Amino acid sequence: MTADTPITPDRWSLESWFSAFAAPDYIAFKAELVRDVDALRNRAAKLCSDVQEIAQVIVDFEALSDRLGHLSAYLGCLSADDASNEAVKSDEAWISTLEAESAKLSASLRGALAALDDGAFEQVLLTPALTGAEHAVKRMREEGRHQMTPELEALAADLNVNGLHAWGRLYDTLTGKMVFPMTFPDGHTESVPMARRRALMSEPDRRLREAAFHAGQKPWLDHADTLAAGLNGIAGTRLNLYKRRGIPHFLDTPLFDGAMSRASLDAMLEAIHSHIELPRRALRTAARLQGTPALHYFDLEAPQIAAPEEKPLSWDEACATVDRAFSSAYPKLGQYFRGMLQQRWIEAQPRPGKRPGAFCTGTQFKHEERIYMTWHGTVHDMVTLAHEAGHAWHSNVLRPARSMAASYPMTLAETASNFGEMILLSGLMGDPALTPGMKAYLLDQEMLRAHAYLINIPMRYEFEKAFYTERGTGEVPVSRLSELMSETQRQIYGDTLLADGTDPMFWAYKMHFHITGVSFYNFPYVFGYLLSQALFARFKEEGAAFLPRYEAFLAMTGSATCEEVARKTLGADLTSPDFWAEAIRAIEPTLVEYERLS
Ligand SMILES: [Zn+2]
Repeated sequence: MTADTPITPDRWSLESWFSAFAAPDYIAFKAELVRDVDALRNRAAKLCSDVQEIAQVIVDFEALSDRLGHLSAYLGCLSADDASNEAVKSDEAWISTLEAESAKLSASLRGALAALDDGAFEQVLLTPALTGAEHAVKRMREEGRHQMTPELEALAADLNVNGLHAWGRLYDTLTGKMVFPMTFPDGHTESVPMARRRALMSEPDRRLREAAFHAGQKPWLDHADTLAAGLNGIAGTRLNLYKRRGIPHFLDTPLFDGAMSRASLDAMLEAIHSHIELPRRALRTAARLQGTPALHYFDLEAPQIAAPEEKPLSWDEACATVDRAFSSAYPKLGQYFRGMLQQRWIEAQPRPGKRPGAFCTGTQFKHEERIYMTWHGTVHDMVTLAHEAGHAWHSNVLRPARSMAASYPMTLAETASNFGEMILLSGLMGDPALTPGMKAYLLDQEMLRAHAYLINIPMRYEFEKAFYTERGTGEVPVSRLSELMSETQRQIYGDTLLADGTDPMFWAYKMHFHITGVSFYNFPYVFGYLLSQALFARFKEEGAAFLPRYEAFLAMTGSATCEEVARKTLGADLTSPDFWAEAIRAIEPTLVEYERLS
């Protein structure tokens, strides 16, 4: 983008980050970064028990990470915005090698912290330059205590490229090329790419869903042995590494990543299981609406009530609606959102060449946020806008914090975004101009979310937990994977699924099980969903008086565990099933309204 290109309201501006891609300021920034990563890596590799030098390397690493994050976020924005830009792609590949260098640097740092005795470590924590970073430094040391020697960690990282991550790449390659012949309800047959199957199974026409499900099952069955080998390989590698690193349980690492305890996870699942009838009621209602005694797996993501046929929303209208909802419930959020629009921090223009999806990103280096999405004029897009604005506001609240106290785990990330969504939705629901058709549609959408978070994702978690337990004693064959999958679905869905309604191949179909970068990808989303339900219930009860506590909650997300954040700002005990039960029951009024519809 050059200075004389006019910017339309739905295009973002990135000029405050760099004047342009490959401009002199950009090139100089890159060169300085390479030089400084290299210099700091040498210092980190030489660290011994010198408390002052360790503290100084941590401080310098924090500043370096800000610069690296700034460039990485910039490239992420450019490549999403223009997916075919090869120069950007090549810089993205380049920065990932720099990030790998920085990862080695942080491993040295963690190792040095782990080698310190408790007294010396206290001295590090008391260093004035590290005030506010104590939580992050403690986590670094904790991680350092569960790593192998630097040589073995380096070997594992190298082997993972061709081992662990190769299984993930094989999954992507194999499934990315999958196509299946499908006969449509009108009789014509088409070759359908697997990527389209999920959309077809979300179609209102049940015959279409059924055809896509059955025809689309074949490639998974054909490749079941390969996919099972991959899944066993991924889990087996992880279990070996955990053993070598002295990590006793396969849930320890995902829990550490989520900054939460096993007690909280167990309490959350206990409450979900004891309240499973609530979301099941939504599924029974959906079955009544479609006129079947229960649902099939291919019915689960389909709306039972279509969006009313209204003219597409314009971008300006959507922004005005979000602004109204935010401003009336939470004026500071409204003001921040308007600021984002004025400063052109949101990219929403529908245009070929953009990558699909939506995200919020930001830079600690410039203290600015950006939202990326593509506007198609639907209510769903408007909800996405509110979701991403919720994320951006979270970063904004964290601005006064130092960088090491501003990065939060996935468990706490989705809380703010869901909160943003809920403000918009409750604003829409309370709007006197809301049509009955739109209201029914929104209720149905809300129930689809409840199903995803309170039934489907917990089912994935229970399956994965059982699979990892069995994998501990040997390879789990295809037949057992499918059996385990069906059994878990049967247990959690109960009678809401038809007798032949399970999907035994879901272990192969769901990409999340095959992600190699994160283990147990799913439960943090349930955690974030329920936490935001709990926060929003309190907001509804206490009104504006609650908002300072909400902000205190957000401000603390980078400097304490989930349990501490909840206890100190909400007085809530996440290890108690009662807390989660209350959050689950918050969906009941919406459920009752939904039941009335049928
Ligand atoms: Zn999100």
